[in-house]
Amino acid sequence: MLTANIDGNRSRPIPSAVGVCPFCRSEMVPRCGEVRIHHWAHKSKANCDPWREPETDWHRNWKNEFPLSWQEKIFQDEATGERHIADVHTLSGLTVEVQHSHLDPTERRAREEFYRNMIWVVDGSRLKGNREKISEWRNTLVEISQGQSRTNLFLTDKAEELFPNDWLECPVPVCFDYMGPKGDVSSAPQVLFLLYPGTVHGGRLVEPLPRGSLLRAIFAERVDTSSVRSVTQRVARLRLSNRRR
Ligand SMILES: [Zn+2]
Repeated sequence: MLTANIDGNRSRPIPSAVGVCPFCRSEMVPRCGEVRIHHWAHKSKANCDPWREPETDWHRNWKNEFPLSWQEKIFQDEATGERHIADVHTLSGLTVEVQHSHLDPTERRAREEFYRNMIWVVDGSRLKGNREKISEWRNTLVEISQGQSRTNLFLTDKAEELFPNDWLECPVPVCFDYMGPKGDVSSAPQVLFLLYPGTVHGGRLVEPLPRGSLLRAIFAERVDTSSVRSVTQRVARLRLSNRRR
């Protein structure tokens, strides 16, 4: 984790300090080496959030794009007492969950139901085949135009061929990052692909975005559940006689 408590205050890792996990209250040790991003490690993870995955620097880099006070936010369901740590939770109430490893669909759905207003950032580079399939995206995604204007919104009826299938049925937006820990800078697409939930005009809505644009969209509350729904509804009302670029 990127934060732990020292004397009750949230702190970044400090060499030789002893931290306490804000979730499970167990002791944390700082890892301040020269190779990996400085972080805290549990001495024992036994009682920590079962939803946490072992973090890569790719995961930490995503969390570090956001203010410290938004990172590793603890959530509690007041009715059931269930608690989890969200990777990032914004001021507008959007949870950003970053996922590198395979996620069991049952756990994925449980997280979606727990956080509700959320977006996934998924490592698309984990499976080599996915990266190769998306590299030709300009040939397979069709941009939607609105009058004379381009929208940067694309429709595809081949989502199952383009994106990791485990993520297609999510009821929330999923952003695929092909520059994951194993991403090859020379060949991977530099853009991220935001897959909107649900179908529209019989296809799936995709928005290719540079990393900075996705971050601005999150800060501007443009990918909150209600905003995403209004984009989908707006596209559904368009007549798509002129969809080709
Ligand atoms: Zn813990």
